[in-house]
Amino acid sequence: MIENKFPGKDISDEDLKTKFPLSSSINSKKIVEISKDISFGGENVPFIAGPNVVENKDLMFKCCEILEKNKIKCLRGGIYKPLTFPYRSEKYFEAGDEGIRILEDVKKNFDVIIFTEILEEKKLNLVKDVIDVIQIGARNMQNFPLITAAAKTKKPILLKRHFGSSIRDLLGSAEYALLEKNEKVILCERGVSAPHTHRASSRFLLDLQAIPAIKDNSCLPVISDPSHACFWHEWVKPLTLGSIATGADGIMIEFHENPRESAVDPLQAIDFKEFEDLIENSQRVANAIDKKIV
Ligand code: PEP
Ligand code: MN
Repeated sequence: MIENKFPGKDISDEDLKTKFPLSSSINSKKIVEISKDISFGGENVPFIAGPNVVENKDLMFKCCEILEKNKIKCLRGGIYKPLTFPYRSEKYFEAGDEGIRILEDVKKNFDVIIFTEILEEKKLNLVKDVIDVIQIGARNMQNFPLITAAAKTKKPILLKRHFGSSIRDLLGSAEYALLEKNEKVILCERGVSAPHTHRASSRFLLDLQAIPAIKDNSCLPVISDPSHACFWHEWVKPLTLGSIATGADGIMIEFHENPRESAVDPLQAIDFKEFEDLIENSQRVANAIDKKIV
């Protein structure tokens, strides 16, 4: 038995039993089922794709058409955005509460599963009948009251790892959701802070090693978000393929009709054509490990 002499760093055998007994690998692997044909943690690798921000109905409908054409079911898009700095560019448009009407419209017209981030507990009531999966963003990974409140809705939760947090801390946060008897928790690796990121504008480094490490230590599925990690559209494809090969249970991607015109994070989104190419190439990597992109 390793003694827990250095709390906050890596995971000891004792931690698995006492710090996060529900999310740890002492339990059998969980498959998180979202709908009849979308589950995380099984043979399929669902893609969750969409723009950074729900900018308008037209963009969301166009994205859904591309998803449909490529047989992808999960749509992403933020209506509330945690911006690092409080100033907004002219282009910036936070849909806010109105965004839920756009997502409602999307839902009426397309058979999609909607992932969106919630920043405040008080918004849960407003969104819970429209969105399918509640995203807890990196910046709120340790907002325990928010995680608990989100878990109480019984909606599936996508919990992103903060860019400075250990897997030990991530599993501690997941434990808060599982304690509410909500077993539908999906973890997400989205890049970590590092002294060098290989490109001046890249803010984070995708921690591919976290994928097998999370699987060793947890019973929960883990997906990868290469877009937020590398912040550079040209690297999204190789990092996606690498994530699938490393065992990611899903991929979150940003795509946009005119990526460089995205209201937020315009450098990281890929365009529609690149998205279609990405799906085709991802399927080839998935085939090699007997998995299927959905
Ligand atoms: C997002 O997915 O839009 C987002 C803000 O991600 P993260 O919390 O990982 O930065
Ligand atoms: Mn973003």
